[in-house]
Amino acid sequence: MTTVRAWGTPGFAEPLEPVTITRRELRGDDVSIRIEFAGICHSDIHTMRGDWGERAYPLVPGHEIVGIVDAVGPDVTRYRPGDRVGVGCFVDSCGTCHPCSLGEISYCEEGPTPTYGGVDRRDGRVTQGGYSQAIVVREDFVVRVPDGLDPAGAAPLLCAGITTYSPLRRWGAGPGRRVGIIGLGGLGHVGVKIAAALGAEVTVFSHSGAKREDALRFGATRHVSTADGLPEDLHHHFDLILNTVSVDLDTEAHLELLRFDGTLVQLGLPPEALAVPVRSLTQKRRSVAGSLVGGVRETQEMLDFCAAHDVTAEIELIDAAAINEAYDRTIAADVRYRFVIDAATF
Ligand code: NAP
Ligand code: ZN
Repeated sequence: MTTVRAWGTPGFAEPLEPVTITRRELRGDDVSIRIEFAGICHSDIHTMRGDWGERAYPLVPGHEIVGIVDAVGPDVTRYRPGDRVGVGCFVDSCGTCHPCSLGEISYCEEGPTPTYGGVDRRDGRVTQGGYSQAIVVREDFVVRVPDGLDPAGAAPLLCAGITTYSPLRRWGAGPGRRVGIIGLGGLGHVGVKIAAALGAEVTVFSHSGAKREDALRFGATRHVSTADGLPEDLHHHFDLILNTVSVDLDTEAHLELLRFDGTLVQLGLPPEALAVPVRSLTQKRRSVAGSLVGGVRETQEMLDFCAAHDVTAEIELIDAAAINEAYDRTIAADVRYRFVIDAATF
């Protein structure tokens, strides 16, 4: 076991503080990673502030991880010390169920093992995430960070990037297709960049006008402030809308924005059930869907795509001591556009 410094919470909904955790001895197929950067996802905040119930404590969050390999187990074939790699939301899955056999480990029928707050499938220990100096992960759940990507700006791609890339690809975002993205936060701003790079026409829906110029700079052709309502001229307009917002929205009104055969994909996780009038679906053959992160192979494909199209997250790099304040600012939608922690400060 190796002891490493980290930041986590000692108990339910308590602020984060310095903690020490242990990382396991390398198994045959393990990669040991010296972490350089860890992104702050809103899911970390939901978890740590108690929105999603009690966990085992102390708990160290973080599933947007970039670092350098410093050791590998004897059976590892794809990575060597010195390689720059990434780890995302999951560190294991059953490997044999239908989704796993397709590489879609997010949808593992037994439940994939989350990077933090899960239970390791082999030793039963609680998994601890990326707000730490180092992590040990199975080779099959590690991806390569291409040389062309800035490593700090690449960290958020490990969750925000794949969570938007996967549905954009699944529902065919590309030339001639109209994509709406609700919420220009961590997920949303990366989603805009990726959708634009795929060649789609992109419109951003924000709850204020404050991010209009940024939305256009990221590749959107239009920015709508929903404070003024949803514009009539966008009714029956979109092929695909990604909703990245976790507050309750008027689903019926947003469905009206979809044209024939259009799909609304839920990425944000609002507390209440969606109110969906059936006729909003039947009259235009519309769909409502959800999507969870993406597979490891697809995450590698996304990173290679982002390197080829010069896509990284817009980040505010912070020291570990600023994590609690960064959580407050993220909740207030006051981050441009993802906080990333410098792991040298853990
Ligand atoms: P974030 O950075 O906090 O962005 C959320 C955005 O929601 C804000 O920037 C804001 O954008 C918008 N928003 C709309 N109404 C708001 C209001 N009343 N108050 C505050 N913000 C409001 O969060 P994120 O990291 O992108 O995550 C978004 C959601 O996706 C979270 O619920 C997270 O847990 C979930 N998530 C899901 C998956 C998945 O696989 N499905 C993966 C990762 C995260 P505007 O200012 O433009 O309105
Ligand atoms: Zn996340």
